[in-house]
Amino acid sequence: MISSPARTFATSAKLIIAALFGAGLATGEALAQQAGPTPGSAKAIFGAVKLPSEGPPQSIGFYAKGCLAGAVALPTDGPTWQAMRLSRNRRWGRPEMISLLERLSRDAAKYDGWPGLLVGDISQPRGGPMFNGHASHQIGLDADVWLTPMPSHTMTAAERETLPFTTMLAKNKFLTIDDKVWTDSRARLLMQAASYPEVERIFVNPAIKKKMCDTWTGDRTNLGKLRPEYGHDSHFHIRIKCPVGSVGCTPQAPVAAGDGCDKTLAWWFTPEPWAKPTPKPGAKPPAKPREVMVSDLPKTCQAVLNAPAIASAKAATYGIKAAGAAGATDVEPVSGPATGNTPPSVIPQQ
Ligand SMILES: [Zn+2]
Repeated sequence: MISSPARTFATSAKLIIAALFGAGLATGEALAQQAGPTPGSAKAIFGAVKLPSEGPPQSIGFYAKGCLAGAVALPTDGPTWQAMRLSRNRRWGRPEMISLLERLSRDAAKYDGWPGLLVGDISQPRGGPMFNGHASHQIGLDADVWLTPMPSHTMTAAERETLPFTTMLAKNKFLTIDDKVWTDSRARLLMQAASYPEVERIFVNPAIKKKMCDTWTGDRTNLGKLRPEYGHDSHFHIRIKCPVGSVGCTPQAPVAAGDGCDKTLAWWFTPEPWAKPTPKPGAKPPAKPREVMVSDLPKTCQAVLNAPAIASAKAATYGIKAAGAAGATDVEPVSGPATGNTPPSVIPQQ
């Protein structure tokens, strides 16, 4: 989930959007302004699927161009987490991602003074591109976690839809943390998340990264995993590596050595990342990027779409046996054509 950089910086939204297109990771702020996904696009098709495919988990393709087979759901509630925005139906991921979130929630509660996680978007039931909010999150290995602690009560579905985001940034200042909001517990939470070997990157706002660089006095070995990005001022984004042996999952280059508190961070505090691209005189305006179609994704993704669905969201909820288990509040996801009745087809083992 991406909060609005336009709000954050009180700058022209257009200017920010122009910058975001270069960011790869980030956001569909521009697309969020349209009423719905273009019919027939990969976003429309993957966004309409309600349930994951049967079979073993497979992350297919790249974080920002791929899909997910055999996904499992984060239970909507656990002792130390609550899943947010349930209507979006994006609490699906690889089992490795879900178990990492649960582990982080327990460790943060035990060691970091953080009572529990509010978990935002992970992936759609079969991954793939999303209509709004993200360029990545397509293969079940990315998850957003709020920088707001879990409240002591179990929130209703309605509360989970409407709880506002809280930015860590000071209003009316450029890329500056609001010290009235920021806490050491947030710093500890981030470093706890970065401590796990399977976590490769954590995206945070550049101001948060700078705060960590300036104030973190503990072991800095994993500080380099915190990567400055647009947005990410009210949540952070955890990305894990392609799990060992997952054929078909395209890894990302490892992060550079060092803590990242260097000129790559300083760049974010220059005008360059926020400047509107200046077209060359006489040059044509850049063409609007073409919609991504299913055929643009790895071939296996069509088979993932065609594959039979698991019986129910509950049956595919991580750690919960299908028979009458508690804890998987079945919230009817946004409607769309079901794919559960499509003819069986074998997903090739890429
Ligand atoms: Zn994210």
